[in-house]
Amino acid sequence: MHRLLIYNTTILTEDESTQTYKVIPKGYLFLEDNYISQIGEGAAPSLLSEKATNVNGENLLIMPGLVNTHGHSAMSLLRSYADDLPLMKWLQEKIWPVEARLSEEEVYWGTLLSIVEMIRSGTTTFTDLYFFMEEAAKAVEESGIRAVLSEGLLGILESSDKALEYTKNLHENWHGAANGRISIILGPHALFTCPPDFMEQVLGISRERNMPIQIHLSETKEEFENAKKSNGKSPTRILADLGILDQSVIAAHCVHINEEDMDIIAEKNVGVAHNPGSNLKLGSGIAPVVDMLKKGIKVGIGTDGASSNNNLDMFEEMRLAALIPKGFYQDPTLIPAPKALEMATFLGAKVLSLDKVGKIKEGYHADLIGVNLDSPRMRPSHNLISSVVYSATGADVELVTVNGRLLMEKGKLLTLDEERITARSEELAKKLVGQA
Ligand SMILES: [Zn+2]
Repeated sequence: MHRLLIYNTTILTEDESTQTYKVIPKGYLFLEDNYISQIGEGAAPSLLSEKATNVNGENLLIMPGLVNTHGHSAMSLLRSYADDLPLMKWLQEKIWPVEARLSEEEVYWGTLLSIVEMIRSGTTTFTDLYFFMEEAAKAVEESGIRAVLSEGLLGILESSDKALEYTKNLHENWHGAANGRISIILGPHALFTCPPDFMEQVLGISRERNMPIQIHLSETKEEFENAKKSNGKSPTRILADLGILDQSVIAAHCVHINEEDMDIIAEKNVGVAHNPGSNLKLGSGIAPVVDMLKKGIKVGIGTDGASSNNNLDMFEEMRLAALIPKGFYQDPTLIPAPKALEMATFLGAKVLSLDKVGKIKEGYHADLIGVNLDSPRMRPSHNLISSVVYSATGADVELVTVNGRLLMEKGKLLTLDEERITARSEELAKKLVGQA
């Protein structure tokens, strides 16, 4: 049993009666095994400090770790490789030819590189849809982070049957592994790469094994219009008619959706992964998040891959999610700071079907981060939630725990050899794009 006491610290927790954020200016947290077992105000009782590893949280704001609901981790190897291009040109001319040469080794090291970046910037859970995901699972296991992983499935490829088999093995070998930190789900890439008969196979596996499905949905106008042209239906309607949305689904993007699509998404309780940075950078458009939230749709935040963002800093993403609608609708009251924070934490966990994740609350998983309150960006702070959403960046994170285990303390990574990971990733990345 491992126990950790963080004392003398500021805590962003929840007010039980109103279920809104509440700040404890000076208090303590007692983490036992995987969970937060006690939160208190004032000095920690000596009984607790005697039976735990003690961490002085002075000058830290302890808040929920951030939940990244969409990404392709090993694409960090392709960071800045292809920029300023529209999605289909970017994929077809630059990304897919390189990905055709990918092997296990690149995925393992590329995923580790992303995990280093994510832990450093306060992400405690991430989602991945990529290839050779067994390697990603190994990287997750070693690092101590939490992840929801899916092998990328492209129904248009001849190897698609093999990829389905791979997914089944991955599920058998890794679901619930690493002390429950790893979940395995299904990852059909998108409707335009997965024809209906293939989607039916995916659906069969999802039903049989009770596996959630994540898919890119209505990312571009082109995708929406092509579906309408060839089927007379929107991509969302196609998925619903196939029965896919009766399963637990994470739909990434949902930029080009209409009123009817939103009603379907709400009715089917689909989780949406909103990727504001990637949508802006690829010129895909602006997702109607305000309308989705109004309809009660659960919307989380994601970075997408580092090749279309180009970083994995969820603080930046949270800020964009709050700012974009204000500018777009010329209404600064939209997506206020607490809502953006919820989307980046608790709502994101709901999108991923993760239970007891995303809050600093007794009984929740001890996935938390400490933001440095001495950072000039955090001084002075008249409202800590506003400071976190509008002022902080990932570089202000000093401490990270997942399942109550310290992954970073005083800005130093405790489970990973950062220097080695960066060097090896760089070597492999150069080889991959043919520069070495
Ligand atoms: Zn994506």
